Amino acid sequence: MEINDIIHGFKVTNIRHLEEIEADMYEMIHLGTDAKTIWLKRNDENKTFSIGFKTTPVDDTGVFHILEHSVLNGSRKYPVREPFVDLLKGSLQTFLNAMTFPDKTVYPISSRNDKDFINLMRVYLDAVFYPLVLKNPNIFYQEGWHYELNDVNEEPIYKGVVFNEMKGAFSSPDGIKSRLMMHALFPDNCYGNESGGDPDYITGLSYEQFCATHRKHYNPSNSYIFLDGDMDIEKILAIINDEYLSNYGNEGEKITIAKQSPVTSEVTREYEISPQDDPAGKSHLAYGYVIGGFDDYEKNIAFSLISSVLCSSNESPLKKAILSKGLGEDIYFDMQDGIFQPYVEIGVQNSDLEKKEEVEAAIREVLETAVRDGLDRKELEAALNQREFKAKERDFGGMPKGLVFAISALDSWLYDGDPADSICYSDLFNSLREKLDSSYYEDLIEEFILNSKHCAKIFLKPSTTLGAEKIGKEKAKLAAIAATWTEEEKKAIVEMNRKLSAWQSEEDAPEQKATLPALHLDDLKKTPTDYPIEVKTCQGSKVLYHPVATNGITYDSLIISCDDMNEEELTIGSQMMTFLGNLKTEKYDVLTLSRLIRSTLGDFSTSLTGSRSYKEGIVRKFILVSWSSLYRNDPEAIELIKEILYHTDYSDADAIRNILKQNLFVMEQTYINAGHSLAMQRAASYSSSVSAAAEYAKGYEAYRYLKDLDENWDEKNPRFIEVLKKLSEKLFIRERYTLSVSGEQSDMNAEAILKDAPSGQISETYEIRPLGRRNEGIAVPANVSFAAKASILDEKIKKIGTMFVLSNILTYDYLWNNIRVKGGAYGCGFRSGIGRTAGFYSYRDPDPANSLKIYEDTVSYLKDFIERNQDIENYIVGTTGDFDPYLSNRGSIITSDMEYIMGYSYEDKAEILKQILSCSIDDLKDAISLFEYVNEDDNVCVVGNRTALENCSGKLKEIFDLNGSRS
Ligand SMILES: [Zn+2]
Repeated sequence: MEINDIIHGFKVTNIRHLEEIEADMYEMIHLGTDAKTIWLKRNDENKTFSIGFKTTPVDDTGVFHILEHSVLNGSRKYPVREPFVDLLKGSLQTFLNAMTFPDKTVYPISSRNDKDFINLMRVYLDAVFYPLVLKNPNIFYQEGWHYELNDVNEEPIYKGVVFNEMKGAFSSPDGIKSRLMMHALFPDNCYGNESGGDPDYITGLSYEQFCATHRKHYNPSNSYIFLDGDMDIEKILAIINDEYLSNYGNEGEKITIAKQSPVTSEVTREYEISPQDDPAGKSHLAYGYVIGGFDDYEKNIAFSLISSVLCSSNESPLKKAILSKGLGEDIYFDMQDGIFQPYVEIGVQNSDLEKKEEVEAAIREVLETAVRDGLDRKELEAALNQREFKAKERDFGGMPKGLVFAISALDSWLYDGDPADSICYSDLFNSLREKLDSSYYEDLIEEFILNSKHCAKIFLKPSTTLGAEKIGKEKAKLAAIAATWTEEEKKAIVEMNRKLSAWQSEEDAPEQKATLPALHLDDLKKTPTDYPIEVKTCQGSKVLYHPVATNGITYDSLIISCDDMNEEELTIGSQMMTFLGNLKTEKYDVLTLSRLIRSTLGDFSTSLTGSRSYKEGIVRKFILVSWSSLYRNDPEAIELIKEILYHTDYSDADAIRNILKQNLFVMEQTYINAGHSLAMQRAASYSSSVSAAAEYAKGYEAYRYLKDLDENWDEKNPRFIEVLKKLSEKLFIRERYTLSVSGEQSDMNAEAILKDAPSGQISETYEIRPLGRRNEGIAVPANVSFAAKASILDEKIKKIGTMFVLSNILTYDYLWNNIRVKGGAYGCGFRSGIGRTAGFYSYRDPDPANSLKIYEDTVSYLKDFIERNQDIENYIVGTTGDFDPYLSNRGSIITSDMEYIMGYSYEDKAEILKQILSCSIDDLKDAISLFEYVNEDDNVCVVGNRTALENCSGKLKEIFDLNGSRS
């Protein structure tokens, strides 16, 4: 491909080699439509396709979010109810989703299989350009909103997937605050509106407006097509042109985002806390400052470095000022980019509104001091080193690189900037390093924060009555609307509901199903990916060596066996993980330590976790200390890790309490935003030792212990600290260690890590007992709930492979249809696997009582499924993809370490894959008794809205609030 070549309607306008990511970037324009197109030619078998549209909301109805959901519900060539779900369950996708941003909607897919990649791309192109929702309003009612009314004498309610998803999103103070901030800073352009949809306004959107919005925005001239990886580009471009773009002209209206002129504003809002909660110290304050344009790349990175200097540890200037004056429990300084005019947000968590003048004065003083005396250069350099490390590593965990490039490109491309600029930025580091010798960073603080002309303040105050008020208001609003309905109108709405639910219960006809391109067993790899480990010994300890190319980066972990920990030690030990690296050590104060971590290590993480050994089912508890570093920093990195493990000083009670309070806040926010994890773990802990151990480490058991500790700090902290000190001596000894190393210097590193490690005694294994069936409801201040049911199946499972296939069938078929599609919950799933457990969950669920019922009915669903003798090939295909997921370098190392610890070998994996590939209807039949057992076992837990919990009355033995009170 050369510049000016025209390939299937695409003209090549620019070709560049991007050294930083080892890629050639081809920029193209589609001649008929002006569709902007990029191909990043990289040596990556995992290929990515993404099509994005500029979608700039003009109101808070969430129309683009509802569009994002709805276009994936069937299209011209693929007229099935939910192609998106069919692909989730039946393809080898390594990424498949769609995302609504404040100014764009993006549809990306990835796959390692060529045929699958093309299938997925076709389905997505057809979905965005020819969705059935334009002809079938049922899809809009289901995904967006509708009045649920099944009888003219009933009271109506609102229902819809996006409606409930956003109710959940509008529950946490963090979520509300960041939305309000963006709206306040940009009142005159698209960022002033809620792209996800505000539940109060979603119900104002009509189907006609919805369809008109699709026509205006979803056309090729408003699109951004991104291709990444090693692919037959001519073939791909031919499909995109011949089957889609060639049907369009350049008919789209050019959508531009107007620059917001400077404004200042202040917004105060209430947010919901539990009626029993004390509102004192629960206000949240945030200050936002617009700092320039999307293309001020250097400035934007500079602000992220400033953030790191001011806020990376509790001893950093800004955090220290707020914490030491008792003005809040935490403060952050965040860069918000990926929009036309990026801004920084300084936020104080768990404060009091009455103290806002003091808070503002404290922040100002820190910033003025920084400008006057200069920011610490060593700190800035450490932050710069860390950014450079990340730029070199480009490890995005489970997210394919191509996906990250596709989204990053839009950070400039969407605003007519150069897409390469937001993917490659290493050049900027040299210039930022040179500027360390100038007042560049201080000038930025002065000009854009202290003297800001474009800023906003957001104040959130807690309300114990808002939850009930909101429910009352929604009821009253609906009653008022219903009062205006004539009998005819009521009948029409009942009829609409009848049609909707009839449509929802309809199965796709075989000829419809046949339209979806599918993979077959022949297309699949028959063996799992091997991530080999060489086991060596060094200084008497076991060393797991990973022979992978790591591009000059070392990834090391200490796996510290701690089977002898008791319940309290698990709770305290898990907190200890958050103190490591955040408390002073013998050699370093917190500030220095935090700086050394950033300048020497790429990542540093600590966790206390557990799992069951694969064959014997024995509970294994262990601590994982992981870090990464550039080869040249290895010696320093290892010294630092040793200093943290062996010489952390646990005597500063105030510093410990500050971190503890921050941890409690994070736990509470997680329970409100994603309570399904807690509900699942809690339900499983009634009968599982592993889950009970997890409960003591970081679940609700831990939460209550820590809350009590915080409330009775003076009395209880001496004991807590004593246990901490004892634990640190007891745990960090060579007898417990298994070391995991990678990279060219691994032998030398292993030697250095293990040399002089303390020695000690390991006590007898301490058995953590399951909690016993409790069937609790845990009320949290949220509009939605999370319902879980879990059991340990152990040897009752004949073939683990069958359980993987069943996870796929139940999640994407049974639960999806009943809990998400009909029930209006945002998410749901069934999980089982090598842990030999079975667990159901729902996510942001308006009706947990219904979900519990659905879990119970799994038995009859399966019987019916088997009776109909369905073809399960597509479920098997999808299961193999999930079973052997796409892993980054770091991901593969961590996964193979865990598998080694669990005694789960490559042969075991190959055997399970064989079971998956050969899974038959008879295997499924064998599994029915497991679900009968799950029903008998009857371990359920629901986290969520109190009224919804009360509706589960027959199923829950007790309901209490997060703080344990049983009002
Ligand atoms: Zn959504």
